[in-house]
Amino acid sequence: QVPLKPGRSLMDWIRLTKSGKDLTGLKGRLTEVTEDELAKHNKKEDCWICIRGFVYNVTPYMEYHPGGEDELMKAAGTDGTDLFDQVHRWVNYESMLKECLVGRMAVKPVSAPKANLLRVHSIPLSVSMAKMLKILIILLGSIYIFSLLYFLILFYSYDWFQTDSLITIVIYTKQKDMNAELVIVDCQDKQLRGEIIVDDHSYLVEIGLDHAVQGDVAVNIAEKIGKVEITLKKKDNIHWKMLGQHLESHNTFIKRTDRGLFYRKCKLISKTEVTHDTKLLCLMLPESTHLHVPTGQHVYLKQIIAGTEVVKPYTPVLPFLPLDLKEPSRHDGTYIYLMIKIYSCGLFTQALDHLQIGDYISVSNPEGNFKKSQVQTSEDLFLLAAGTGFTPMVKLLSCALTEVSCLRTVKLIFFNKTEDDILWRNQLEQLALKDERFEVQFILSQPTKDWVGKQGKISLSLLSEFVKRSKKDSKVLICICGPTPFTEQGVQYLKDLGYSQEEIHAFTA
Ligand code: FAD
Ligand code: NAD
Repeated sequence: QVPLKPGRSLMDWIRLTKSGKDLTGLKGRLTEVTEDELAKHNKKEDCWICIRGFVYNVTPYMEYHPGGEDELMKAAGTDGTDLFDQVHRWVNYESMLKECLVGRMAVKPVSAPKANLLRVHSIPLSVSMAKMLKILIILLGSIYIFSLLYFLILFYSYDWFQTDSLITIVIYTKQKDMNAELVIVDCQDKQLRGEIIVDDHSYLVEIGLDHAVQGDVAVNIAEKIGKVEITLKKKDNIHWKMLGQHLESHNTFIKRTDRGLFYRKCKLISKTEVTHDTKLLCLMLPESTHLHVPTGQHVYLKQIIAGTEVVKPYTPVLPFLPLDLKEPSRHDGTYIYLMIKIYSCGLFTQALDHLQIGDYISVSNPEGNFKKSQVQTSEDLFLLAAGTGFTPMVKLLSCALTEVSCLRTVKLIFFNKTEDDILWRNQLEQLALKDERFEVQFILSQPTKDWVGKQGKISLSLLSEFVKRSKKDSKVLICICGPTPFTEQGVQYLKDLGYSQEEIHAFTA
């Protein structure tokens, strides 16, 4: 994020889009845009960008872009879909930029391929070599497609059966390590959506049910054979002739990032103070949802603010730091706990703070690239957190201290501005007393004169003092999360200290 000029916040942008001003310069007319036409609009004062086939005039948005004008200009006059997906595919640009829509991209006429144009490193290839290369490319492509199909057909199939009162859908994944975190089920308004996560891919069963079912859904997983059973209760105990209509994405196996985010409405159950500006929100999942947010992953919350959909990521925590580490959390699967800092001029958090107990808010499926296996083999775990960057560390801490048998030390180095900003200080200190493997260090950047602890910001000398292997070749994992400059500087210092990329995990969007 870059500092924006006054009057250029997201709220100001929403106001501008509602003002009735002609933001495209086309007086509401939609046009078909050719690639040549798009390429002409590549200047700050005249900038068009294509996202998923739709072209937007983002010139008026330039000064409002939280990532800065230069970031936006990277896609000027071109198709910015990949760049957009890399940086923030969760942002609802359709809603944010709807007043900037210029039109659709024109469909390109398909021209016959020219064999003699195929060149590798500028060396012209003979026509026969070019043909062979083409065949090779087609072959490799086919192998990829067939292996996906093979995977889908052999490893993923589903079936259903019924009793007088129940409907059971069985998904056979043949995945040996299938577990509750890899299955997400929602059943709303006679629509059943069951998603199975397989590394970075997802398999989906999506059906418009033939008859109504009751509110609750049960999910049973046979972990060893990878069988997932979804059981629904019939509303009327009648015999179903069919399960229902297949919806658009039914029976698809695609990359997770290509699947749109799915949201369900969760009820706000409680709001408790953690510090002067940070609250712990408890959200209840619908009875008809089966969802467990994996360690190190975040969800997106969605609210309509002044008529525009706004989406922000948050990392679920536990209701408290478990001191009795043998007992698993009983709350998982029913509630989602979020520790959220309310900024006095924050658009989203101000709206969140105005939610009343009993109100509903949309919560997405989990996302994130942290893998639990990274921590399961580590002997020394270092957690570098700044402010609310503490949130991913909560489940990580609990997971490390309960599930990782080879773990020798866990050290949390927690950076805050003042003593009053330290989240769960008491609980952290208690945990350190209770478990000798765990140590916590608080570092303040704006302490009062009474502070006797460490002060300053993240630095090379500080990290060289606190991040040390417990023995020469011990397996280390260092996780870092906080404001972007904090994370970026931290990663650089760690590399300067000789830690490898594999030993560092930085939490980002
Ligand atoms: P904004 O309106 O974006 O502003 C927040 C504050 O920053 C305001 O004071 C504003 O003045 C200032 N500000 C914002 N943008 C700029 C700018 N460009 N220039 C100068 N000042 C600016 N937060 C949590 O509290 N808990 C979490 O668990 C959590 N998890 C996250 C997980 C991920 C993966 C990521 C990426 C972020 C997470 N965040 C979390 C941060 C969260 O997503 C929001 O960014 C945060 O809540 C602020 O949102 P807002 O709309 O209220 O604030
Ligand atoms: P804050 O402003 O209270 O700062 C906390 C500490 O961070 C400071 O005391 C300082 O030590 C350090 N810090 C702040 N700015 C710095 C800078 N420019 N350079 C070096 N160090 C700096 O923090 P906050 O308001 O609680 O913000 C927390 C941040 O963590 C937010 O930006 C949020 O988006 C991010 N966050 C990210 C994730 C994630 O990516 N998974 C999860 C949670 C929070």
